[in-house]
Amino acid sequence: MSVLEHWIDGRSTPTVDGTTRVGTAPATGAEGATVTLGTAADVDHAVRAADAAKHGWRHIASTERGRILARVADGIVAAMDELAAAEIADTGKPDALARAEIQGAADYFEFYASLVHLPAGDVLDIRPDLHVYTLREPLGVIGVITPWNLPLNQAARACAPALAAGNTVVAKPAETTSRATVALARIATEAGVPDGVFNVVLGRGAEVGTAIVRHPLVRKVAFTGSVPTGQEIGRIAAERILPLTLELGGKSANIVFDDADLAFAASEAVRAFATNAGQVCSSGTRLLVQRGIETDLTRAVIEATRQYRPGDTLGPMITRGQYETVQEYFEVAEQEGAVLRTGGAVVDADGFYIEPTVYSGVTNDMRIAREEIFGPVLVIIPFDTEEEAVALANDSDFGLVGGVFTADISRAFRVAEAIEAGQVYINSWSTQSVQMPFGGHKASGYGREKGIEALAHYSHLKSISVRIAPGR
Ligand code: NAD
Repeated sequence: MSVLEHWIDGRSTPTVDGTTRVGTAPATGAEGATVTLGTAADVDHAVRAADAAKHGWRHIASTERGRILARVADGIVAAMDELAAAEIADTGKPDALARAEIQGAADYFEFYASLVHLPAGDVLDIRPDLHVYTLREPLGVIGVITPWNLPLNQAARACAPALAAGNTVVAKPAETTSRATVALARIATEAGVPDGVFNVVLGRGAEVGTAIVRHPLVRKVAFTGSVPTGQEIGRIAAERILPLTLELGGKSANIVFDDADLAFAASEAVRAFATNAGQVCSSGTRLLVQRGIETDLTRAVIEATRQYRPGDTLGPMITRGQYETVQEYFEVAEQEGAVLRTGGAVVDADGFYIEPTVYSGVTNDMRIAREEIFGPVLVIIPFDTEEEAVALANDSDFGLVGGVFTADISRAFRVAEAIEAGQVYINSWSTQSVQMPFGGHKASGYGREKGIEALAHYSHLKSISVRIAPGR
């Protein structure tokens, strides 16, 4: 039996004193990967390696750092088949989706490789006898903790800007989906990332995740995951005055007005909640529809769900726990009196498949409209006016993403700017790219990944002032 091990200091590393975990392949229910479960001792080993490597990496010429990161991007693309196989084995997701995510991971490294050439600060014109400048400096060792839904992509999203800004990294993937992140660290080493700069420690959140957040040599944590875990990390960070980026959950709304292209809006609304079987933080899981088109749009949405076929275009729930959680929400929906329009059942298969599910007769105070289900479940809520639509969209603890579909360009801008979310899409859903900053508002988190802005979250700004003595 081969055991997936940590990647520490440029090599595959067994656990100091841990156990292993045998996974379950979500697509078939068969036995999955055997993964080492580390402890605080493994975290200490990795953090010390990262700390020892930080000066060398920081002071390498920026052009060289950029070249190395560009080679990581090339290495990811070259290993596409291997990485896709790892992601599909761990998550069961459709091949095309896995490959798109892996290409996205390569894009992060390519993009941030190019940004190493940005100026590292400014000169401030203050007084003739002072030369004042700012210098953007790396923070040191960054902890990167990621969930199981888009494993490689999320690891790359945080690691690429962290490394480009001159930091070293200790990453911890979810214990259910560890393979691709370990492969990424190996690819980075093969591409010339010096030993100790990119480390991966495997294991559970309560042991390995917590140990990363608590480690005194870790200077920042980038966390992607659920709100309760984000809160727990936040409590430790408060004691340590540790900066965080928190990429948490969502219950995002798509608003469709009666002048929208109805067929396109329906297909986008379904793409919004069924992609990756709804296991995406930015899923559009509330569909707010202007009352006059509710019947037609609901019909078109139900029709469009047929494109998501289990085992083909629709993957399984990535864990058994998530599979059971979604089924519990079916009971909640029934108790709350929602009207089931399609789905509402598991698929008769060996894997953890759930049918795309649509409810109408929903009000925004129901649990199924307020809580992140993280499965392919959509609730449809009617509205009459633009003000009511915006109020409903914003009546949520979360604020990750929003969508508006309308032919009225002024209304599109008005509504987009009124939605309380980190990103809003007009007449499309989730047209994300590496250049576009991404992050949360309200309980969806804070800090930004992606874009040039992410670099600011992986560095701190130092001001240096130099007195210029008068001439003699
Ligand atoms: P989770 O919070 O349970 O786990 C995420 C990671 O944190 C895992 O690696 C886990 O092992 C680790 N962890 C768990 N407890 C920990 C602790 N006490 N200390 C440190 N680390 C700990 O989340 P999940 O269920 O794996 O992922 C689903 C959640 O992630 C959803 O809420 C989803 O919306 C969110 N998410 C957000 C984004 C975003 O960019 N905003 C992207 C993807 C997923």
